[in-house]
Amino acid sequence: MDSQALYRDIGRFFAQHGLWPTPQNYALVYQVLVDGQSPAAQAVKAATSDGVRLTQREADQIMDTHGVATAAAPPRQDAASAALISATRRQVEEFTAIVEASQAQAKSYGEDLAAGARELEESGDADQVATLIGITRAMVERTQQAEQQLDAARSEAENLRTRLAEVSEEARSDPLTHLPNRRAFEERYALLQQERIEVSLAICDVDKFKRINDTYGHGVGDRVLRSVAGLLRECCDGHMVARLGGEEFVVLFERMEPGEAAAILDEARETLAEKKFRLRENDAPIGQVTFSAGVARGSHPLGTPALQRADELLYIAKNEGRNRVCVEPA
Ligand code: GH3
Ligand code: MG
Ligand code: MG
Repeated sequence: MDSQALYRDIGRFFAQHGLWPTPQNYALVYQVLVDGQSPAAQAVKAATSDGVRLTQREADQIMDTHGVATAAAPPRQDAASAALISATRRQVEEFTAIVEASQAQAKSYGEDLAAGARELEESGDADQVATLIGITRAMVERTQQAEQQLDAARSEAENLRTRLAEVSEEARSDPLTHLPNRRAFEERYALLQQERIEVSLAICDVDKFKRINDTYGHGVGDRVLRSVAGLLRECCDGHMVARLGGEEFVVLFERMEPGEAAAILDEARETLAEKKFRLRENDAPIGQVTFSAGVARGSHPLGTPALQRADELLYIAKNEGRNRVCVEPA
């Protein structure tokens, strides 16, 4: 399909279904038309069979489930990554310029040397020997210069690579708990969805956390959050534990049924409930710290997004009295 036909068909799709040409919708329709076998395209086909109109709500659900908008949206960039990217681009240009200049010079020296050698063969002239020595020296010098430049460029590239890895790590990690953050979780979840790997999702929310902050101060609250983060990481070893925000965490259980995931989480819940938190200054107990959780199966096409279902189950756990894990029925 050529670009004009594709553009026309995308427009036609919007008109047919009464959808706005937002960047997100565009990404979805693009995928439907370009990669009809993708899970998102299949879901759209299923929803629109028999000429049924695709509603915005269905489109949103499909994009949520298959991570279409995330994959198609341009990567979010902060100032640090933007600066690094432009520095890296400059670096590559410098590299290219050095290599091209060296190649051109080596070629011209090589041609001079070959011509000199031919003349020397014919004449046996001492002047010719001196010329050849001159050319060779110049070539050696130039090569050394190019090597120095390349060394400097290489070490600069190494610095950039290290800094880029650091920035990428910072962008995906939560500074308070050092857990992966929501962005890291979303990326991992989208990848697992793409690879069609079965997952269960758990949202854990610390119970009555506001009370801890209000009674003992934000510093103590932070310490409790770090402690809950560490405990979840230990108990859910091998699975991604990320901080969603505030006093909420998400656990991504790969290749695991919700029931099994809930059992692991329930042990974590019990361990936390038994832990004795004390104030650092005077060793006074700060009371029981607990969490509630909702565990849902990873989204299947057209289903309510998994995170939303896990959140609904969490809400039930809170209503049923907190300090419990609610799991989606099998
Ligand atoms: P529930 O059992 O219903 O979840 O009650 P809750 O008190 O835990 O829930 P609520 O949403 O009312 O309060 C959450 C509190 O978490 C409010 C907010 O100030 C606090 N909080 C969010 N992020 C942080 C943080 O990074 N550090 C600290 N110390 N507190 C935080
Ligand atoms: Mg909360
Ligand atoms: Mg809470």
